[in-house]
Formats: sequence, C-alpha cells, structure tokens
Amino acid sequence: VMHGLSLERNPIEILETGRSISDIIDGKIRQLYSVVKRHRQWISLLPRVKPFYAVKCNNTTAVLKMLSTLDTGFDCASKAEIELALSLGVKPDDIIYAHTTKPLSHIRYACAHRVNLMTFDNEEELLKISLVHPQAKLVIRIAVDDSKSMVRLSPKFGARLPTVRQLLGRARELNLEVVGVSFHVGSGCTRSSAFRQAIEDARRVFDVASLLGFQMRLLDIGGGFSKIGDFQEKFEEFSEVINGSLDEFFPPVSGLEVIAEPGRYYVESAFTLAVNVIAKRVVVEDGAIKCTGSTHLMMMYYINDGVYGSMSCIIFDPAHCKLEPEPRYRSVIWGPTCDSIDKITESYWIPELYVGDWLLIDNMGAYTVSVTTDFNGFEKAHIYTVVTAETCVFFFFLPEVCPLLFCFQGARHASYVISS
Ligand code: PLP
Repeated sequence: VMHGLSLERNPIEILETGRSISDIIDGKIRQLYSVVKRHRQWISLLPRVKPFYAVKCNNTTAVLKMLSTLDTGFDCASKAEIELALSLGVKPDDIIYAHTTKPLSHIRYACAHRVNLMTFDNEEELLKISLVHPQAKLVIRIAVDDSKSMVRLSPKFGARLPTVRQLLGRARELNLEVVGVSFHVGSGCTRSSAFRQAIEDARRVFDVASLLGFQMRLLDIGGGFSKIGDFQEKFEEFSEVINGSLDEFFPPVSGLEVIAEPGRYYVESAFTLAVNVIAKRVVVEDGAIKCTGSTHLMMMYYINDGVYGSMSCIIFDPAHCKLEPEPRYRSVIWGPTCDSIDKITESYWIPELYVGDWLLIDNMGAYTVSVTTDFNGFEKAHIYTVVTAETCVFFFFLPEVCPLLFCFQGARHASYVISS
C-alpha cells in the first residue's frame, strides 16, 4: 500500500514490496485529473476567454494533439515550438508567438508560415518586426504587479505603463499594426487582485492606443493559473474576479476577443513521475556511516531522475515537507548526477527505502518533461500516454478526432512520465 507522504505540491508515494507498479498506476488512473477535465472546467468558468495553451509548459505531442482537438489555440515562444504546433496541424491563426524578445530568424520563420500574431514590449523588437514581418498583428505586453506569484516574469518582460505611449507612437511611425494588449501576472499567482489590476491597466493602454488611432481588438490575460495544493480553490476565485473585471472594463458589447496563455493549469496533474531508488547511504549526524536500525540515522537516497531531468521545477517550485507523527527517518533524496545541486528534498521524513524501490510523484506535468537535459548521460524520463474510456467516448462524437482516437487506443487516462 502507498503512503501519502505530505509533500505539499508534489507528494511522493512509496511503492512497497508485494504490490506491482501497475497496481499503483491503475489506482492513479482513477484519481487523475485529465487535460480534458481541466478544459471543460476552463470553458465553463471563463466563457469569454479562449485558452492558447503555453507549449513551453509541456510539449508532449499527445497533450498538444488533444488540446488542438479541443480547439484551443497555442502560445509558442520560439521557431521550434511554432514548427511543432504546425506539424500537428494547428492553423497559423491559432498561434500567438508570445515572446517579446525574439531572434530575427524566428520572426522570419513566423512570417514565412503566416503566424502573424506576436507580442512586443520594446522598440528594438518593433524595428526587427518592421524589417522582416511588417504585416504582423502586434500585441503590446505590459509589466504588471506579479509580486505575489511563485515565478515572477515582469522583471524581465513587459513595457512599464509610463513608456506605453511612446512605444505605441513608435509602432505608428513604423506603420505597424498593434491589435491588442497582453500581460502575465506570474506563474503560480496567489492573488486574484493581480488580475483585476492588470485588466484595469490594460484598459488604460487601450485608451491610449485608441487616441493614437489604433483599432485594438484583443486582450491576452496570460497564464498564472493552478489547481493543486494551496491553489485548489483559487481557479474559481480567479475566474469570478476575471469575469467581473472584463465586464467592468471591457463589456461584451465592445466585441473584444479575450484570450489567455495557461500552461501549468492544463497539464500539472496529468503527469505522474515514477522514479527508482538506485543507491542509498545511511549517515549518522557526525558523518560516520553505520547500519540501519535507529530513527536517529539519516538516510540518503539516490534516484534515477533529478534536477537535471524532470525535476528542475523544484528550483523555483520547492516542495515543502511536513513532519509525520510516527517514527520515520529524516531522508535526503538526491538526483542521479554528480552535481550536488541535484537535490530533490532536504529533510523529508519517510519510512526506510531500499535500492530498487519505486517512488511515485504526483502533479509532475508542468515545466518537467519540457525542461530536461541529458547531463552526465542520464536518460530522460520515458513518457507513456493513457486515456480513460470516458475521454475516448467524448472524442468519439467528434469525427475529426478519429486519428487521435486511434493513437490513444487501448489506453485509459491522462499521461504518465515513467523514469527508466
Ligand atoms: N505565457 C508566457 C509568456 C509565459 O512566459 C508563461 C510561463 O512562463 C506562460 C504563458 C505560462 O504560464 P503558466 O504556466 O503560469 O500558466
């Protein structure tokens, strides 16, 4: 039986002897929230906002195919991401090239493939775009208050409000078309008020743009949504605030198109990572190595995936442990590489593990498989895709997804990342 080990955001569960990994995965299949369920919730709670899924968050083909079938758009941040989306049949009009500092060659590629919608936040970018993609439909990204988010983006991206008039004026001089405003409140946003303030800021930019003669028609409210751990209830709260703010600052009669760039929200719970204990050291506080048997000993486990693989997300998305009441060993879990930064947990109270044991880590869909390296020659995690019978039925009624149905045949639910 598995032990729930209380890592708040990425609980690790131990597979004990006597149960096979497929028993555990079968149990997981029944618990997992799928990409489809998240999408259904999005369209019911944010009916005015069309999601453009952020490919950077998880670029697994199965996820992209499924979302494309569900008619989402895609936020691509590079030539390679655009290439991937187009290769899966995504229409150029369903892509926003949402990066404000783009290499010239990538803008040229977007132009050649009729990807016209793209963001900017500085004058140099306008010059590059006017040179190689003068017909682009531009979206000005503004910096917003992201101080209450897990990962801040505004220190790096977004035009400050006082600079917006001058920047739009420059776009006018260059004869470029600016069609909208975008922002990102930061990944893992904790305050709904950040969205309200950002939507109000965007309204101001619309007013300035209209004085300069632009016909703005698009608002992009970015990403920042999550539904795991402390964020469980936040999506409902954020939706309410976003809907209210949109109605207040951009009433439906304005005919505005509203889009978002959710990443984490769609995939975070759809992936579970299975890792194997490949080595172990038993340590006493003075550093001497002794045999097991005392709760004063500290355990060090080495697993076959880590910070250079699927778990780089823990650097900015740290897992916090709670102490368990029953006697357990303080344990440090390390990744497989020779680097000491490759540490998964510092002080984690769990029962003793043995080499060969498996650990299952929930909620490993966001910024995991898309951020791995093969540092030290360790293999990247393998990905196995499964889909529920219920989801298959859902797709069956959509004739255009027959190829997708075929690719998921025999499988039962969302997706797993299994590290070999
Ligand atoms: N859009 C842009 C421009 C981003 O930089 C990011 C994340 O870094 C996202 C969307 C996705 O954000 P999230 O995963 O928080 O939804």
